[in-house]
Amino acid sequence: MEKVVIVGTGCAGLTAALYTARANLKPLVLTGRQPGGLLTTTSTVENFPGFPEGVDGCELVTRMQKQAERFGARVQFGTLEAANVKETPIHLTIDGEIVKTETLIIATGASHKHLGVPGEHELENKGVTYCATCDGALPMFRNQPLVVVGGGDSACEEALYLTRFGSMVYLVHRRDSLRASRIMAERTISHPKITPVWDSAVTEVLDVKQDKVTSVRVKNLKTNAESMIACAGLFVAIGHVPSTDLFKGVIDMDESGYIIPKKGPVTNVPGVFVAGDCSDRVYRQAITAAGMGCAAAIDCERFLGAEDK
Ligand SMILES: Cc1cc2nc3c(=O)[nH]c(=O)nc-3n(C[C@H](O)[C@H](O)[C@H](O)COP(=O)(O)OP(=O)(O)OC[C@H]3O[C@@H](n4cnc5c(N)ncnc54)[C@H](O)[C@@H]3O)c2cc1C
Repeated sequence: MEKVVIVGTGCAGLTAALYTARANLKPLVLTGRQPGGLLTTTSTVENFPGFPEGVDGCELVTRMQKQAERFGARVQFGTLEAANVKETPIHLTIDGEIVKTETLIIATGASHKHLGVPGEHELENKGVTYCATCDGALPMFRNQPLVVVGGGDSACEEALYLTRFGSMVYLVHRRDSLRASRIMAERTISHPKITPVWDSAVTEVLDVKQDKVTSVRVKNLKTNAESMIACAGLFVAIGHVPSTDLFKGVIDMDESGYIIPKKGPVTNVPGVFVAGDCSDRVYRQAITAAGMGCAAAIDCERFLGAEDK
C-alpha cells in the first residue's frame, strides 16, 4: 500500500515529489509517456527564479527529479491507465498492475490540440509537428518556408524559434491581432523572417501522395478566399487539452477538462489533490505548476496526518 502516488513528472509532479519525499512519505511518482513533462520540449527557460542566465528545460526537470530522489521519491517509468478514486484505499491501474494508495496527486499536465484538417494526421512527423523546439532543427526544415498556426504565446515562441532554421515563417492566425502578451507579440510581428497571415485558417495540409508536407491550403475567414502557402513544415500551436480523461465524471472539471479544485489543490474527492497545467487554464508556467505541486504536497501531508490521528 502506497501513502502517496503522484501522476506526472513535470514541474508540478516533481515539486510535489520533493515535498512529500521530505515529509518522509516515500512517494511513488509516475512519469507517463513524457518523462519530465512539457518543459523537456523547450530549450532555454529564462523565467524560472534562481537561474539568472536561464536554464535548459531538460536540465531543470532532471535537477528537480534528482532533488526529489535524494529525499526518497521513487520515480517509475509507468502510465496510469485507470483510477478508482471513490474506493478506500484508492485503486490505480498502472501498466496493467493494480496499486493501492491512500492519496493521489494528479499532475498530468495538458497535451497539444490538433487542427483536425485533412492531411494533418497522415503527415504527422512528416512535416506536421506540435513542437518547434523538438523538431525545428531537423534537416527537412532547414532553409525552407515554414508555417505556424496560432496566436498565443506558444505560437509566437514557436515562430520566433523557427526563424533560426526556416527561410521564412508564416504565422497563420484566425484574428487580426495576436492573443500573446504584448512584448511577445511585438517581438514576433517585428521579426523580419516572420510574415503574419491574419484572419485565416489552415484548411488542408498537402501532399499526402508525396508523403511529406509541401504546402498548406489557407482560407481567409473574412473573404472566404483560398490560397496556398508552399512550405516544408506545419507547426500547430493552438493550445492544449488537459490530460484528465481518466477522471471524467468523478473529479470536478470544467467543460474543457481542466480540474476545478474545491479549495487550493484539494479536489472534491477526499485524498485526491491536483497540481499544475491540468487544473490551470490561465497561467500554465513552470513556476506556477511547481507552486501548485508544493501546495498539493503540503495538503496531502496534512490529510494523511489527520487520518493518522
Ligand atoms: C514550447 C514550450 C515552452 C515553454 N516554455 C516555458 C518557459 O520558458 N517558462 C515557463 O515557465 N513555462 C514554459 N512552458 C510551460 C511549462 O512547460 C508548463 O507550464 C509546465 O511544464 C507544466 O507542468 P506540469 O507539471 O503541470 O505538466 P507537464 O509538464 O505537462 O507534465 C505532465 C506530466 O504528466 C505525465 N502524465 C500525463 N498523463 C499521465 C498518465 N496517465 N500516467 C502517468 N503520467 C502521466 C506526463 O508524462 C508528464 O510527465 C513552456 C511550454 C512549452 C510547450
